Amino acid sequence: MEMNGERWNIEGKEEMNKSSVTVRGSLNQISRYLNSEDDRPVIGFGHADPSGFPSFRTSSAIVEALVDAVRSWKFNSYPSAQGLLPARRALAEYYSKSLPYQLSSDEVFVTAGCLQAIEIIISVLTRPGANILIPRPAFPHYETRAIFGGLEVRNFNLIPQNNWEVDLEAVQALADNNTVAIVIINPNNPCGSVYTSQHLKEIAETARKLGIFVISDEVYAHMVFGKKPFVPMGEFGSIAPVLTLGSLSKKWSVPGWRLGWILTTDPNGILKKHGILESIENYKEIIPPPATCIQGAVPQILAKNSDEFVSGLLDSLKTNADILYEKINEIPCFTCPNKPEGSMLAMVKLNLEQLKGIGDDVEFCSKVAREESVVILPGIAVGLKNWLRFSFGMERCAIEDGMARLESFYQRHKLH
Ligand SMILES: *Cc1c(COP(=O)(O)O)cnc(C)c1O
Repeated sequence: MEMNGERWNIEGKEEMNKSSVTVRGSLNQISRYLNSEDDRPVIGFGHADPSGFPSFRTSSAIVEALVDAVRSWKFNSYPSAQGLLPARRALAEYYSKSLPYQLSSDEVFVTAGCLQAIEIIISVLTRPGANILIPRPAFPHYETRAIFGGLEVRNFNLIPQNNWEVDLEAVQALADNNTVAIVIINPNNPCGSVYTSQHLKEIAETARKLGIFVISDEVYAHMVFGKKPFVPMGEFGSIAPVLTLGSLSKKWSVPGWRLGWILTTDPNGILKKHGILESIENYKEIIPPPATCIQGAVPQILAKNSDEFVSGLLDSLKTNADILYEKINEIPCFTCPNKPEGSMLAMVKLNLEQLKGIGDDVEFCSKVAREESVVILPGIAVGLKNWLRFSFGMERCAIEDGMARLESFYQRHKLH
């Protein structure tokens, strides 16, 4: 590139910068419209990180586990690339309780949050010509990671009329011999849906037919508050191999601790046989592992009875989901097709025909930020234009306040 007569062989990834989408980046963009003259507190429906709110603060037992690990003086060295054995063993035991087979510690990789788990898997799968199947809408990190890594993304739809289930026919139509895996997120971010055992089985059967494996993002595992139980995808690992992703971030409400994992829920050993595990091990050698003391605290975190904390968390989420669903559907410019049953998120359709002079979801979110100090994630950030993603992980009174502001925004901007 020629500039001012000087020549430099330096170039950013322009194409990738253009298509790079993250939740944080999108929310920063919307937050620029906030009006600093507004004295009201900002209501943030954007981030799915309630850990700072009093009702979602992690329990003291979990904090003590970390304090004990630090105080033990045992966790000050570099951790091995594969992670501390006691942490991996504790995770294997913890997960085996809800699986029809036993995981061994060799089948557990600890990572710096679920985000690093995504990075590892995408990096391991990237090769010339390969493609990966990613839902739309989805937590955007999968697609952005794949784009930066040079792995082709093919999107299949989740169907709102069908509780946001996977369009399995579309999956089969999209896949070819270069397809390496399918990603599912259950309980779902951004839709708040929870898949039935039957649907998960169908996904596994489809993957088997296509000769691919399933990447199951279960960062919201067990965070369900509707009628459906949480079923781990690993239950169907004998139909098609599954890599299960998780972390402490959501259920234990400590996203800043950056501890996640990859589990090989593949009782037939197909991933191992095909070199995927070896590639993960090798990739782990070149990236920073999670902090040793956090790994040191894992056995105690999982052993401590954090049930009470978690059930309180689920009670708050259920109440909030009820309020959000009810209030949203009272405002004519919104439709929430499915009441959230898990995670802490909901997808809401924006009915632009009910509003004057608002062209799309980004413009809507910008104006709401400006006029009502309410931050919402535009659907385009998760792949669905003219939808909105709401997080309801917050204090109940903040949801009520936010909904009242959205109602008054609607009254000022409604068409009739
Ligand atoms: C929050 C989230 C992640 C990231 O998890 P961390 O442990 O914070 O890195 C990954 N996937 C989904 C679906 C999420 O909602």
